[in-house]
Amino acid sequence: MTDDLRHLLGRAVDHAVAYRESLGENSGRPEVDYYSMRQALAAPLPETGSAPEAVLEELVRLSTPGLMPMAGPRFFGFVIGASHPSGVAADWMVTAWGQNAGYHTPTPAAAAMEEIAEGWLVDILDLPRGSSVGFVTGATVANAVGLSAARTKVLLDAGWDVDADGLFGAPDVAVLVGDDAHSSVFSALQMIGFGYKRVTRVATDGQGRMRPDALAAEIGKSSGPKIVIAQAGQINTGAYDPFTEIIAIAHAHGAWVHVDGAFGLWARATPGHKHLTEGIEGADSWVTDGHKWLQVPYDSGFAIVRDREVHQRAMTQWGSYLPSINQGDRVPSAFVPELSRRARGMPVWAMLKTLGRTGVAELVERHCGYARRFAERLATEPGIRIMNEVTINQVIVNFGVGDAAARKAATEAVIARVQHDGVCFVGGAAWRGDWVMRISVSSGETTEADVDMSADAIISAWRAVRG
Ligand SMILES: *Cc1c(COP(=O)(O)O)cnc(C)c1O
Repeated sequence: MTDDLRHLLGRAVDHAVAYRESLGENSGRPEVDYYSMRQALAAPLPETGSAPEAVLEELVRLSTPGLMPMAGPRFFGFVIGASHPSGVAADWMVTAWGQNAGYHTPTPAAAAMEEIAEGWLVDILDLPRGSSVGFVTGATVANAVGLSAARTKVLLDAGWDVDADGLFGAPDVAVLVGDDAHSSVFSALQMIGFGYKRVTRVATDGQGRMRPDALAAEIGKSSGPKIVIAQAGQINTGAYDPFTEIIAIAHAHGAWVHVDGAFGLWARATPGHKHLTEGIEGADSWVTDGHKWLQVPYDSGFAIVRDREVHQRAMTQWGSYLPSINQGDRVPSAFVPELSRRARGMPVWAMLKTLGRTGVAELVERHCGYARRFAERLATEPGIRIMNEVTINQVIVNFGVGDAAARKAATEAVIARVQHDGVCFVGGAAWRGDWVMRISVSSGETTEADVDMSADAIISAWRAVRG
């Protein structure tokens, strides 16, 4: 048994190391597409089992051609972390230890480490000390958790216990959200019964920042409970809402302020970019991801709430724990929607330990510098336009001449060509009536040489398209 285990897990290590070592050299895209993968994998349910080692070998052999090198140095398609080796190692231990991390008394190590990671996160992000953190799968769920806490509180203040009595018959809650919010905010609103359409979309400026004057004009239109959803790090431009003004307006109207900072909140951990988040500490709940800028492996998102009691009230499984815990205990499941789950705090602890305050700051600053470098290099080429103010790690680029349709065609052709050439991976998006190439720098593996090589690849793709 011991030999078998060592052999099996040893093979997994060999495969993992070989894959990681190949990432820098490999092309920037999978060798085969989804449809080919589906065909290659198509098989009926096995009637009988197979030896674990054979299953592992087959898993690796079948999957490898369809792996996107997201953990590599030249993947700029989304804001995505590259899962730092230290986080991967910690995550392997989490899997091997098999702790059901929902409750604190049966899993002391997992619960205590998550509690320490909670304090460290609030510290490094410089949010109000004592805020609670729910360790969830990602920012989408974290948005749902933060907005649930908001829903609980604003309705309690209006004399309604939404956790017990639901939304039917509840006072109307006005939800105000910036017009350039991330899709996951609307998904979270949908999940918690607020609807993705039944919201007031507040006008934004050219970079996607919520306009305080527009918020002030809208928020006075209703008299009941209110939630304002702000954003730190717009998915295309990287822009930050003006928090000081927005929060002052919102709080003057008794609103709860929730901030989606899935990647952008990490600017707060840097000396050079912290000013972008000025005033954000005045909000009531915040969301960020571990699996983006912090380089924690998936799944790692954080729902951070100033009022721990409200956070727990919104998430605690009904009647399950209060009598049996001691004063001061932190029950991991009381801050998240799940009960059984992996020990998500452990890889977070490991990454904060690996990087430290200065390491996180250095990583984030380095990526912002790389984004500026991308923009500077690309802007020198005729026919290439940088479409945003490059303030953090996001660069959006438009190619070609003529009207928006002609430039869209050119931009799409450049993106397809870059993806096909495979030096790096970039995607596209619609922005203000244009189609743009999105470049997000967020992998801990990326070096200046990777940026230069990728900028060259983009320029030569454009030259080929231009003809
Ligand atoms: C990525 C992102 C999300 C969604 O996060 P997941 O971890 O993918 O669920 C939400 N908001 C913003 C601004 C993002 O960048």
